[in-house]
Amino acid sequence: MSSNIRIKKTCLYCNKEFIAQRTTTKYCSHKCNQRHYKELQRNKKIEKVNSSENEIKIKNLDVLKNKDFLSISEISQLFGVSRTTIWRLCKYDKLKSVKIGKSRFISRKQLEFLFSTDDELETIQPYAKEVVYKEEDYYSVLEIQEKYNMSQSAVYNLVKRNNLSKITIWKNIFIPKTEIEAVFS
Ligand SMILES: [Zn+2]
Repeated sequence: MSSNIRIKKTCLYCNKEFIAQRTTTKYCSHKCNQRHYKELQRNKKIEKVNSSENEIKIKNLDVLKNKDFLSISEISQLFGVSRTTIWRLCKYDKLKSVKIGKSRFISRKQLEFLFSTDDELETIQPYAKEVVYKEEDYYSVLEIQEKYNMSQSAVYNLVKRNNLSKITIWKNIFIPKTEIEAVFS
């Protein structure tokens, strides 16, 4: 009976049209059936590998979150930004980094400083290149307020009145300690 059935079907593997004798037939030939089976098995394996790679990536991220010092590649992984972006932040002293061997490392504290403002990493502009910003050489406005018991506007007035040099990093103003101390000496 079944040999009388003729159904026009398209092979699931090679897409060729063929005449099937059973409604359940999916392939034009045994060869196509085998090949497709192998392909599906292979895809399953790849999927498995990919998902375990993702697991490793997530684990790595967890490790990174607990490190005190991070390399440029690690930071770029952590934030999903390019290494160039991070490198640029180091180059323009927005991020203090230490070179050990061939790698540059940045402390977690530096990253926290970076995030104390709400600017985006990509929008930063390098300030005048001749100014070398070293965190320990500068006071923030807040630090001056606290140290000399002044209001914020009083600090701004002081800087303006004495024509003190200042640098702005991500909307925060920093004034060289030497200049502030000279005013108060
Ligand atoms: Zn086929």
